[in-house]
Amino acid sequence: MAGLAGTEIDTLIFVPTVAVAVAMTGSSPGGSEKKMVAGTTANIAQDATGAVVSDIDEDTGSAVIPVPDTVVIFDFDWTMIDGNSDTFVVKQLGAKDVLEERDKFGWTQLMDMAMKVLRARGKTIEDIRTCLRRIEVKPAMSRSIRKMAATPGFEIHIVSDANSMFISCVLEAAGLSDCISAVHTNPAHVDEAGVLRVEPYQPVDNPHSCSICPSNMCKGLIVAGIRENRCAKDGRIIYLGDGKGDLCPCLRLHEGDAIFARKGKFPLLQLLREEEGRGGLKAKLISWASADDVELGLGLLLGWDK
Ligand SMILES: [Mg+2]
Ligand SMILES: [Zn+2]
Repeated sequence: MAGLAGTEIDTLIFVPTVAVAVAMTGSSPGGSEKKMVAGTTANIAQDATGAVVSDIDEDTGSAVIPVPDTVVIFDFDWTMIDGNSDTFVVKQLGAKDVLEERDKFGWTQLMDMAMKVLRARGKTIEDIRTCLRRIEVKPAMSRSIRKMAATPGFEIHIVSDANSMFISCVLEAAGLSDCISAVHTNPAHVDEAGVLRVEPYQPVDNPHSCSICPSNMCKGLIVAGIRENRCAKDGRIIYLGDGKGDLCPCLRLHEGDAIFARKGKFPLLQLLREEEGRGGLKAKLISWASADDVELGLGLLLGWDK
């Protein structure tokens, strides 16, 4: 698994157009056929039986990392963490008033503005980091992530409308950076004035065509890209989410995939039930309220108790 430990923030970001070439390389000495995928970050291989293969590619000499047959995709706010990292930081550090402008701007733009306001009010990047380190990943969520990350054939991605700096900081503090193969989110960087700048994942001059997603990010397109580039042909996706932005990817999932949708005040579950009633949902729908439910549900789905 390609972990994220020690990587710079920029390398966490996968753009929608990551080019991955697939080619068959014939038989390996062990008699199994390998599927080679040359990506921007790693080479990947899997034998014909679906078992994962990890060795050195004879031609390129580079490490071969297996194509996962199960890709687990987490939303971040209110899913991997039990809160909203954006509003937490903004409120904790004293720019709550900026959130009152939320109807006038897109979310990414609003966060970019809030970060400028925080800097103007004397808050530093270290203040933001200190605040983010207080965000907990619940123990049962953390256990589930670690267990899946350690399972051969599994790969974990985060698809989030937060930003790269916030997510990497929380993952690092939770000791989970190594468990996550890729984070697909709005890119953030610190400018020369010490302001955290947040940019839209989807470039403004290259809009996506999805009508149900916000202009800065279509999670459905990202998940489709993950399936194409980072999942075995007959592999499955397990998607965990809570919000409206998670609807689009869930509607694109296939039979054999699974959705963990959060119940309670969160809109995704209701939206999916309506879709299910119309016969428009192919993936298995599982509801959850707490991290303990997620651990239990994943255990049942993946046979952890056996
Ligand atoms: Mg969420
Ligand atoms: Zn979409």
